[in-house]
Amino acid sequence: MVTIGEPHIVMPMFDTRLRFECQKCGACCSFSLKRLKIVPLELYPAEVARLSRLGYSSEFRRIRNRFFLNMDGRGVCPFLTRDRLCGLRLETGWTPINCRLFPFTLYTRDGIHVLTVNWEYAARVGCRGFGHGPTIAERISEYEKIAWEIDRLIEAMRL
Ligand code: SF4
Ligand code: SF4
Repeated sequence: MVTIGEPHIVMPMFDTRLRFECQKCGACCSFSLKRLKIVPLELYPAEVARLSRLGYSSEFRRIRNRFFLNMDGRGVCPFLTRDRLCGLRLETGWTPINCRLFPFTLYTRDGIHVLTVNWEYAARVGCRGFGHGPTIAERISEYEKIAWEIDRLIEAMRL
């Protein structure tokens, strides 16, 4: 387990010459698991607590021990604006980690943060960010910062 203060090494499990830059199309925010009526980007418990403090308790749901944003009557994330922007970010300057990470995911194995691509989800929503912007190798410090943030969130829930 990585703890606060230790270096946050991120190990990509793919060719880091991959270029990616979000094109802000909102497709990943518009994809719901219709049977469950959730946006399949998992929330950390500390993020759920933050949403509750912001007054958005009905915008997420617990499924077993995991939390997800509910889809709204449009069948999309309740925070997605008509302009296909993140209303939560517009209002609070904050977006949950897995929203920011998409189409990538970070998980911890033997104290190392492993970065992978959620190819299936990316393909299902037709993510347009691949082939744009800097390479992942050039952006690795961004993912190291997010890894550090994840550890802080996990640590916060232990206190
Ligand atoms: S689908 Fe891809 S390009 Fe579109 S908003 Fe999501 S991450 Fe960005
Ligand atoms: S919270 Fe924002 S970024 Fe995350 S799914 Fe909803 S609209 Fe998209």
